[in-house]
Amino acid sequence: MTETFKCSECDRSYPIDPTRWQCDCGSPLDLEFSPKFPIQTILKRKPDLWRYREAIPIKKDKSIVSLGEGFTPLEEMDLGGHSVWMKIDYLLPTGSYKDRGATVLISKARELGVRKVVEDSSGNAGAAIAAYCARAGIGCDIYVPEVTSSGKLVQIQTYRANLRKIEGSREKTAHVTMEAAKKAFYASHCWNPFFLHGTKTFAFEIWEQMEWKPPDTLILPVGHGTLLLGAYIGFREMKEAGRVKKIPKLVGIQSAACAPLFLGFVRGLYEPQSIRKSETLAEGIAIAEPVRGKQILKAIRETGGEILTVTEKEIGPALREMGRRGYFIEPTSAATIAGLMKYLKGKKGKEVIVSSLTGTGLKAVEKAQIPI
Ligand SMILES: *Cc1c(COP(=O)(O)O)cnc(C)c1O
Ligand SMILES: [Zn+2]
Repeated sequence: MTETFKCSECDRSYPIDPTRWQCDCGSPLDLEFSPKFPIQTILKRKPDLWRYREAIPIKKDKSIVSLGEGFTPLEEMDLGGHSVWMKIDYLLPTGSYKDRGATVLISKARELGVRKVVEDSSGNAGAAIAAYCARAGIGCDIYVPEVTSSGKLVQIQTYRANLRKIEGSREKTAHVTMEAAKKAFYASHCWNPFFLHGTKTFAFEIWEQMEWKPPDTLILPVGHGTLLLGAYIGFREMKEAGRVKKIPKLVGIQSAACAPLFLGFVRGLYEPQSIRKSETLAEGIAIAEPVRGKQILKAIRETGGEILTVTEKEIGPALREMGRRGYFIEPTSAATIAGLMKYLKGKKGKEVIVSSLTGTGLKAVEKAQIPI
């Protein structure tokens, strides 16, 4: 099985090469890869995400860099009279779902003989990449906007990564990192498709936990869309392999303070719109220029989904609503729950809905202290 990079926009393909992170046309790359889903073998393995080994594009087992991640609980709860299923992904080793992508991407980096990586992040992706690099003994520079929650900064430093705080916007941080990526492997959660081939395990786990059936609807946060696109790829691969009949409807949640995809969606366009972003508690989805914006809009439309926005004052109550149930999540995750509650309003019937608690509240305590 040889996998290749394939452009998401033009017809070009490239061999997998550690220095390549975008197409010559400037677009992000996808991965051509044929996964397999041997259920009897999967069932014999331990409960982590590597149980879907034949569907993860890493050649040799000895390349795998793991912290025991995956197979997080899928819990049923009642929200406003509706039953929904919640994937508790903040229980992953670094406290967010980003570990799904990081374990696969850094395993690939090890397989390619990479010695040093750079990554930019609003916090959680940086923490995840830093942790897996620590585990692999790979050098790591993480670029973050200066305003990132201090818990995430301390976490990144504890993993011994070089932390580079960049003044200005999240977009400025991305541009500085792209310069640095000319000299090191760009372990980018938004550009590098190996990250999405890790986040797609979210779909595989739900499929197994729901007795090998897909839910009707997934309600997920969207900034760069690494969870939403991962879920889409995962279900699409299972559909192509004849394992599921349909891809769930994808509903993306954005912060009203930064909603380039929502704007593209409501205008009936296939591209994110340029926006002026304002302050938001949902730092993890405050992405003004989503790298895979066109792919996100296409996936949402193809599955008959939609995009909803939530305002700042809806985030606090959602955070507390989860707190009352024993879940302490970060404001970015609370924005998703606020969107989920909006989606459920006025809905009747037996739609099977899955959402996710994407990040722990423990590393964003200063932002979690929102007035009620
Ligand atoms: C990264 C992140 C998101 C959003 O992910 P995108 O890839 O930007 O769509 C949501 N919640 C948490 C906790 C995150 O860390
Ligand atoms: Zn191209």
